[in-house]
Amino acid sequence: MKKKIISIVFVLMFLFSIRTVYLHVNGKNTLYIENININSTITPLFDNVIFITSDGVRRHWMRVLTDDGTLVSVNRVLENGFFQKFRITNHKTGTDPGLACLETGYGDSINNIVSNQFGPGTAKDSITKGLTTAERLKDVFGDDIKIAYFLPWSFHQINEEHMNQVGNYTDTIFENIIPGKIADYWFAAENFSWTPDDEEAKLACLDPFNVDHQVFMTPLLKAGYLGNKAKDWILNNSNERFYIRMHLTEPDHVGHGSGESLASGNIHPTYLEAMRSYDYAANPILDALESTGILDETLVILGTDHGFYEYGHDGPSWPSGNNQVTEPLFAFSDTAVRHPENITADQSDISPTILASLGVNLSTVTPTYVGDFNTGIVMWERAEWDTGKTTFSFWIAAVVLLITSAIFVYKPKRKK
Ligand SMILES: [Zn+2]
Repeated sequence: MKKKIISIVFVLMFLFSIRTVYLHVNGKNTLYIENININSTITPLFDNVIFITSDGVRRHWMRVLTDDGTLVSVNRVLENGFFQKFRITNHKTGTDPGLACLETGYGDSINNIVSNQFGPGTAKDSITKGLTTAERLKDVFGDDIKIAYFLPWSFHQINEEHMNQVGNYTDTIFENIIPGKIADYWFAAENFSWTPDDEEAKLACLDPFNVDHQVFMTPLLKAGYLGNKAKDWILNNSNERFYIRMHLTEPDHVGHGSGESLASGNIHPTYLEAMRSYDYAANPILDALESTGILDETLVILGTDHGFYEYGHDGPSWPSGNNQVTEPLFAFSDTAVRHPENITADQSDISPTILASLGVNLSTVTPTYVGDFNTGIVMWERAEWDTGKTTFSFWIAAVVLLITSAIFVYKPKRKK
């Protein structure tokens, strides 16, 4: 009888250990504990949100260049704000999967973007209809909120006649954020004619116009140009409620070419310039908010789609990926949206945080944001991550698994 009970206990321990190890290996219980549904009594509310990201900003340089005063706009945002670390957990680190997560608050199994949707040979999918921050805002507020996009490459077909880089670089992820319908204002590379007499395109393009061959090299737009466009838009729309979404390209663009660090560990001069471009783009925007007196009612977010390390950023998500790539750092202009303990949030928390901050009742949104593997949650309600405990339980389970397996193997021999 006693032996029977001991055997049952061993079998149960064995099964439980298999489950723990299985979950750990599959990354299912390393990421979250259950989110207790905290119904915050206070939801931070803003009239406007300006969400600016740059492609490929490494967390390390974000912090170092802020501390030494290089990043002027980031420091301005932090005056009444805070730094927030995020984790990328529910998709591979890459530009479009990152943008799709930032835009929807969902992992790729819900938002449909598992890889980049620009460049020759890529799939040409769009984020699932109805899931983006912009579509949600239009759905709830209609004309009472103005939505403006400022983007550094083409999201609709451009004229490639005088373009060196050809072969369908159009990015298709925002097909459902229809200009004139969902986005009240849309500015991206397709807004230019890209002909040799297009002087404005020559001012805006990141890679200089090739005079000898009379061609543009790429349809990429400078951060500074987009920043000034957004400034003008704010000056003309400061009496409206608005959501501005801007993405910039420089740090990722140069990082792939020369890397972000020198062998000495110092920042690469071209990456430094790129970080400055990103930062300076936000400066005229902050000036416009100040001069029109709407800075206090506006939540400003400066972040990135993914981190950057050495020459790249493509890889598996946290916790297996390089943390400089999977754990980027964002600046928020107002502590009202901060978690009480400023814990690391998930990249998918940003969209629900923006929606709630603009007054969208998230209980009406589907799929529901609960802060699990595939959905975000407002930052101030995120539950603590379960990392240390899981690592410990993993090792306990592994040892138990070994011991119980050994007992099963040796037991029949003893019976003989
Ligand atoms: Zn990117």
